[in-house]
Amino acid sequence: MDLGLKGRVMLAAGASKGLGYGVAQALARDGARVSICSRSEADIHTAAEKLRAETGAEIIATACDVRKADEIARWVGATVEQWGTIDGLLVNAGGPPAGYFSELTDEQWQAAFELTLLSSIRMIRAALPHMKAGSAILVITSSSVQEPIERLGLSTVMRSGVTGLVKTLADELAPQRIRINTIVPGRIDTDRVTQLDQIAANRSGKSLDEVRHRAESAIPFGRYGTIEEFGAAGAFLLSPAAAYITGTDIRVDGGKGRTI
Ligand code: NAD
Repeated sequence: MDLGLKGRVMLAAGASKGLGYGVAQALARDGARVSICSRSEADIHTAAEKLRAETGAEIIATACDVRKADEIARWVGATVEQWGTIDGLLVNAGGPPAGYFSELTDEQWQAAFELTLLSSIRMIRAALPHMKAGSAILVITSSSVQEPIERLGLSTVMRSGVTGLVKTLADELAPQRIRINTIVPGRIDTDRVTQLDQIAANRSGKSLDEVRHRAESAIPFGRYGTIEEFGAAGAFLLSPAAAYITGTDIRVDGGKGRTI
């Protein structure tokens, strides 16, 4: 199936590694031009080199902390200056820290708001004036919006706000024929998930392997997903092939979600 991505201009945030990189890689493999960002100049250029070497795609790499409006404006501006338009935007950033409600301070709530919800608002606002009919926005959330996860209250609360934003925008952008969806990872094998497993191992006195094995047994597919599997779903949702899909949440979770 041709996803229709050839030559299309795609932005992917938080893309030096993990899920953002997986989506950027799938887009580049299908012939899109991809503008990637993450906080570290060195890491984002290394990721761009890897993508160019593997796919031969045109890649722009920009250091941008998505918690900062001026840096988002610089990233989007550099892309539009070079390629003239935006056909797709992947909204993504690192996840907020784990903690029970009783452990969390006002500063941590504020920081989670800025990292997860405000950054999404700002990326979408910066990209929209350059998007026309047929373009798409995809926001990475978490299964925590469907079933709360122990000690991930910051993620559940902020990402539920993001999901509300996406549903609201699906209505507002439909007349312009711009689509917007969320993509909901269950447990995909990335550094973030290993870090969370390590924290759980330290707290419970179990080994990292034991914690991971237990988490994998709760997934019908019996294993974590790969960034390639996640990336393929993300590239599809950002592509013209997903032309009638908007305002919805697509799980990529090996069957882990228990809600109907
Ligand atoms: P990761 O830590 O492996 O990668 C995060 C990427 O985002 C990196 O490229 C990092 O440099 C970049 N980044 C972090 N903060 C940034 C910022 N402020 N500005 C710009 N770039 C930034 O994480 P991941 O596993 O790829 O997860 C991506 C998102 O998806 C996170 O928000 C995470 O909480 C969420 N999530 C992931 C899973 C999973 O299974 N991996 C599950 C649920 C939710």
